[in-house]
Amino acid sequence: MKSATVSPIAGRGSVLLDPMVLICSLIAAASVAIAFSNTFYLTLFTFAVIYLIAAMGMNVLTGYMGIISIAHGALVCVGAYAAAIATVNYGWGFWPATLLATLTGMAFSILLGLPALRLSSWYFVLVTIAFSMVVPSMLVDLRAFTGGYGGVIGVPSPELGPLTGQGGFFIILLAFAAALWWIIANLVGSRFGFALHALRDGTVGAEANGVSSPGMRLFAFAFSGACAGLAGAFYAAAKVVVTPDEFSFEFSILFLFIVVLGGPGRLAGPLFGVLAFFVLPEIMTGLREYRMIVFGLVLLAFSVFMPSGLAGGLHEFLRGRRASRRRAQGAKEAAEAAKAAAGSPVTAAQIEGAALDVDGVSKNFGGLKALDGVSLRVDPGSIHVIVGPNGSGKTTLLNIISGFYPKSAGSIRMDGAELTGRSPVAIAGAGVQRTFQTPKLLGDLTLLQNTCFGAYTRERATGFEIALSLPRARRERTEILAEAHRLLGVVGLQDHADLPASELTHGQQRLAEIARALMAQPRLILLDEPAAGLSMGELDRLGDLLKEVRTLGITLVLVEHHVDLVANVADHVTVLDRGAVLASGTSADVFRNEQVIAAYMGGAK
Ligand code: ADP
Ligand code: MG
Repeated sequence: MKSATVSPIAGRGSVLLDPMVLICSLIAAASVAIAFSNTFYLTLFTFAVIYLIAAMGMNVLTGYMGIISIAHGALVCVGAYAAAIATVNYGWGFWPATLLATLTGMAFSILLGLPALRLSSWYFVLVTIAFSMVVPSMLVDLRAFTGGYGGVIGVPSPELGPLTGQGGFFIILLAFAAALWWIIANLVGSRFGFALHALRDGTVGAEANGVSSPGMRLFAFAFSGACAGLAGAFYAAAKVVVTPDEFSFEFSILFLFIVVLGGPGRLAGPLFGVLAFFVLPEIMTGLREYRMIVFGLVLLAFSVFMPSGLAGGLHEFLRGRRASRRRAQGAKEAAEAAKAAAGSPVTAAQIEGAALDVDGVSKNFGGLKALDGVSLRVDPGSIHVIVGPNGSGKTTLLNIISGFYPKSAGSIRMDGAELTGRSPVAIAGAGVQRTFQTPKLLGDLTLLQNTCFGAYTRERATGFEIALSLPRARRERTEILAEAHRLLGVVGLQDHADLPASELTHGQQRLAEIARALMAQPRLILLDEPAAGLSMGELDRLGDLLKEVRTLGITLVLVEHHVDLVANVADHVTVLDRGAVLASGTSADVFRNEQVIAAYMGGAK
């Protein structure tokens, strides 16, 4: 039996034995030892930890969610000035000023993020470039406030009880960085992290799973901006004097290097990035003058040889070694587990399936009538199959039911309530799950994580509870992991739980999508050609699985070509041809219908 309490981040086994965690701990310990050996290193590592705090925040936005921003350095600058002005000009203490800086960084980041909800990523990059060029010149212009070129002088250092002086400051910074690391680890291993990943691959998969893309994006902007503001306050204290020319364009680019080359979307990425692109060049002073040239060359080398960054490359190396060790010892166990789980029933609680009424639905794409007055009724808890030649409008109908396309005419009601006009997120929230003709799994998350993501709309723990790993969040995570393991057993993929989804075969990905859909405990599941690409064994399993899902009460609508499968599972079959219903009835009826046969042979006019 697999333990239900393994972390979704670390996969199997104890987090402490994870080699990546071990390596990061050793690096941290070595850095602290070096830092306390003399003041040069203490200063160097003080700045390194400040950059690390900023970069960890940026990693959430750029690494996990994939939004490239050149403005992060400018947000650190905004935080630095907020703290400097509050302490020096208004006599605030360091900690209230730090809170102000954090909130200021957050507010600016949200403002900056608003256009990103609409603009394409390229235009957004331009907006952030403009922002990072405007901020330094604004600082000069707002002389009365910012001291112009002279800057703000005399920012105090933080103190906390016995932690005073430069060493105390460094320990405070370490504590902040460690806490932030922990919070980010909690978030990215949760539904929030999965949602960020999903948005990196576009909005469709995320929204089908119930993730509100504007909300999630604003969260990522707010979080990364808050980290930048916080780092800015520490930066101002470490520098004592803040001036506009510290925050050159190069400063903003530095964070991009740290995050993108360190390993975007990896917890340890910013740590590796800061060491490689800040600490190393500072130690090798000869290198410093040529930093931009070296950076450029390194960037080229990385994009060719290590596209997932330092942390990503190391992770893959470690995973490869672990996987081969596991393969050697685990083949027999795996075979036994598979035998035990094969055919295990879907034993979740009974669900009240939804009734679906499609009434006169039409859809025009420009001049093309993809759907022309389609009506059908799906009984609660039944399997309704839609068949039809390619291009007959089957996928379009699923897209309209799930809210991705607006209809041109007609109505769609679930248990009498109108669905059209509602967003995909609202429809997912109402208990409608779907799979895609081309599976939409998150390739670099594990199969287990992908499955857990299905529970997104069901989870109740708030971001705050998850970030701090409060009891409700922990309890919910344990339940969801157990459920995900169980459902992977049901679809026969329990042995692949720790594999990245991209390494699954096409057929396995389809079954994985069904497991993910079931995680939501939906009332209606829409499946687009679930049998395409499945092996004979997988096909049998799919047929059994669909019937088991029906016994739970869940309503199923599937688009399918595979005649044997349709005959095996369908309670009702609707045949579409060129956007209109050609026939409807039991599978025996429709497959005997001559018009249907003609349509499939391509003879119908
Ligand atoms: P099926 O899934 O039955 O093979 P689709 O629903 O994908 O068919 O497509 C039905 C028709 O609508 C096709 O002619 C297709 O080219 C067209 N179509 C589908 N989606 C779009 C779209 N987003 N824009 C324009 N035409 C589309
Ligand atoms: Mg289709």
